Amino acid sequence: MTNVNRIRVVVLGGPRVGKSAVVVRYLTRRYIGEYSSTSDFLYRHSVTIDNVNTEVEILDTSRCEENGCLYSHIRWGEAFVIVYSVTCKRSFQEARGLLKQLADLRLPSYFTALLLGNKRDLDHAREVCVDEGQQLSLAHGCQFYEVSAAESPAGAALAFQALLREARSVQLL
Ligand code: GDP
Ligand code: MG
Repeated sequence: MTNVNRIRVVVLGGPRVGKSAVVVRYLTRRYIGEYSSTSDFLYRHSVTIDNVNTEVEILDTSRCEENGCLYSHIRWGEAFVIVYSVTCKRSFQEARGLLKQLADLRLPSYFTALLLGNKRDLDHAREVCVDEGQQLSLAHGCQFYEVSAAESPAGAALAFQALLREARSVQLL
């Protein structure tokens, strides 16, 4: 049975798209600039969602998809953040592939996902337009935000809060 007071979030995406940066921004409101990429990190914190105290576990993954642990990550989580960089078309293709794998492995059971285009401050180097992100999210029925972990504390927070609220409402169904 689902524990209604806990949500497990898995953060996935290509290398150096800013997965750790957006997680740290959300949790601490800070941007450090460089983050360890050698192992996964599990963060725990409590949030109040619609007046209910909820334990949130966030797994910031590193490059372990290559070692075959994507499957266990997908089984572990209930909500997923798929991050790409708007400056890297290849990372967008990886995000597309991850959303497809999520659907293949999780359906028919429902899962909550958020597509997150990061590094929107680097507009001069943009390779993925907003429309492309929007279309991909519509195709998968997931939420979509473009953010800059580097320049704005608000974007990552809004995106995570929206994901958690949706995950919580799904648990109540
Ligand atoms: P990860 O491998 O996906 O966890 O990526 P990191 O969070 O380690 O970030 C990779 C690099 O991108 C680091 O040098 C970060 O400082 C940089 N970075 C992360 N987010 C942003 C952003 O929003 N804008 C810019 N300009 N750089 C960012
Ligand atoms: Mg990282």
